[in-house]
Parts: sequence; structure tokens; C-alpha cells
Amino acid sequence: MSTLKIGIIICDRYSSCAGGKCFRSFEKKEGAFKIYKGKQVEIAGFTTCGGCPGGNIENAPEEMKANGVKVIHFATGLVVGYPPCPYISYFKKFIETKFEMEVVIGTHPIPEKYIIPHSELQSWKDPIWEELLAPTLCDEKMRKEYN
Ligand code: SF4
Repeated sequence: MSTLKIGIIICDRYSSCAGGKCFRSFEKKEGAFKIYKGKQVEIAGFTTCGGCPGGNIENAPEEMKANGVKVIHFATGLVVGYPPCPYISYFKKFIETKFEMEVVIGTHPIPEKYIIPHSELQSWKDPIWEELLAPTLCDEKMRKEYN
């Protein structure tokens, strides 16, 4: 079985994050990584967007692609930050169009602590978020494990 290489791009506001939740969920194939259950997958790239408005989105995918990365995951921080990344859909479309790489929204399950504030703030009101949240929404039990 050949190994699929993936890359992770995180929101720069969490630039000092050591990737604890991302790497844990990758090991356990939880959240957005559940699609890899039973598959051989390797994280071959990890970087930030470079800070608003995401200058590194123009460069990082190319570098990852050169190292064999086929799928890029936007870390869950792009979805749960305050505010969620306003460019997320554009970034996805841009990478898929320019670099012909697949983009998956999210990494680890959304921690439960973000659910109530974002519901009250109506951060995810636009119907587009239904699709964007789907890979990492998970159930309450799992969200609490990532709090
Ligand atoms: S909100 Fe978006 S563009 Fe801004 S730092 Fe985070 S991921 Fe980058």
C-alpha cells in the first residue's frame, strides 16, 4: 500500500501552536482525519497561512506539492477562531484551482468550548458553513475530548 502524503496549514493567530490536537487526532484518525482510517498516511508538511490575509497560501502548497503532498488540510483553528477565517472558501478554491491539490477543511474535532460562543455570535450562520464544519463537528462526546 502506498503512503498518501498530506500537509496542514494553520491559522497564523495560533502560530506558536505545537499541533497537539492536530497530531493526536491524526494518530487516532478522528475529526477530519477519519477519512484515512485503514490507510497509510503521512504528514509531510506543516505551516501557517502567514497571517491575514494569508500570503503563505500562495506559496506553501507549491512547496508541499514538490514533496509529494496530495491533500492539504486547513487546521480546525481556521473554523473556530474569532472570527473564523473569512477567506477559507477562497483559499480552498484557490489551492484546488492553481495547484490542483485536494483541500479538506479541518483537522481535529472542534473543541466543545467553541460551540456555544459561535452559536451565540452566529458565526456559522451562512449556509456554506454546513459543508465547512461537517468534517470536524463530530459528536459532543468527542468534542469534549478535544476541549
Ligand atoms: S484568519 Fe485566515 S488569513 Fe487570517 S491569520 Fe487566520 S487563516 Fe490566516
